[in-house]
Amino acid sequence: MPPLHLLCHCRNVSLNLVTDDNGYTLDHPAYTFLTTYCDAGGAELLFCGYCGARLARHEGGGRVSPLIGCIDIPKDAASAAVLGGTTIRWEHGMKPEPLSAGEGDDPQEEALKGRCLCGAVTFSVLRPPENYKDDAVLKDWIKPGRKFATTLCFCRTCRTTTGAPYWNWTFVPRSLIDIPAASLEALRTYESSAKVERLFCGKCGEMCFYKHSVAGGGVMWDVAKDTLRVEGNEKEWFVGVDDGVEETRVDKYIEGWQEGKCSFEEEGWAFLEKATVEHVAQGWREKWSSDN
Ligand SMILES: [Zn+2]
Ligand SMILES: [Zn+2]
Ligand SMILES: [Zn+2]
Repeated sequence: MPPLHLLCHCRNVSLNLVTDDNGYTLDHPAYTFLTTYCDAGGAELLFCGYCGARLARHEGGGRVSPLIGCIDIPKDAASAAVLGGTTIRWEHGMKPEPLSAGEGDDPQEEALKGRCLCGAVTFSVLRPPENYKDDAVLKDWIKPGRKFATTLCFCRTCRTTTGAPYWNWTFVPRSLIDIPAASLEALRTYESSAKVERLFCGKCGEMCFYKHSVAGGGVMWDVAKDTLRVEGNEKEWFVGVDDGVEETRVDKYIEGWQEGKCSFEEEGWAFLEKATVEHVAQGWREKWSSDN
């Protein structure tokens, strides 16, 4: 295996992985914003406390598993300048904004529950009202059956702020997301580009929300699909889990955006093989066309 360089989106965490016969180990693992979270299995997740990107999983015995999304692409000359993790870039950064807290205890029966990996961030997503078509914004975003639209995004920023090769977002009006005050305190905000903020859990690094101050009328948020589950069905964490409990699956509340269109497929080609992107995108389209 070749040595690997891992780089988060804000470039404040830069990890070099070196190899021996047994796999990857970490070289010079000391950076200001490097944060660790010990998961239930006893492994450490290494993430950037500044932008939220998960870069690697630290197993026992010093072994490190890189998370694919933050593998640095060698042709990016700019990244070479930050090797060693000492260069700090501030073009975009933390931008605390007052967010209104909810009670965290929604009165509606039909709500999805959201949760980060560690549970420091919890929230509820209420179903759209029956008369959503009367709302100037909701009428364009909510799908028939009062469902939320969802997409896969292959853009570089989603990749390097999560560590995943692509990310699954669901579009939800902010007015239907109920976040208790304690969870708001646990969230960190990273301004990943102009007018865009990404909110992640400061304790475990889970990327939870994306908000654009203009797109979607400034009222739509993207919610990380994998944080959502139907209350009472703890197994429901991922799209397509076939647990035989069809009626309690999150998919009941969600439908593919524009018949299964993915976002920024071409940007994904710069990182994943084009055939891989197409394979994933094709499967996604088929899922949403066959379900409906
Ligand atoms: Zn970072
Ligand atoms: Zn967390
Ligand atoms: Zn994206």
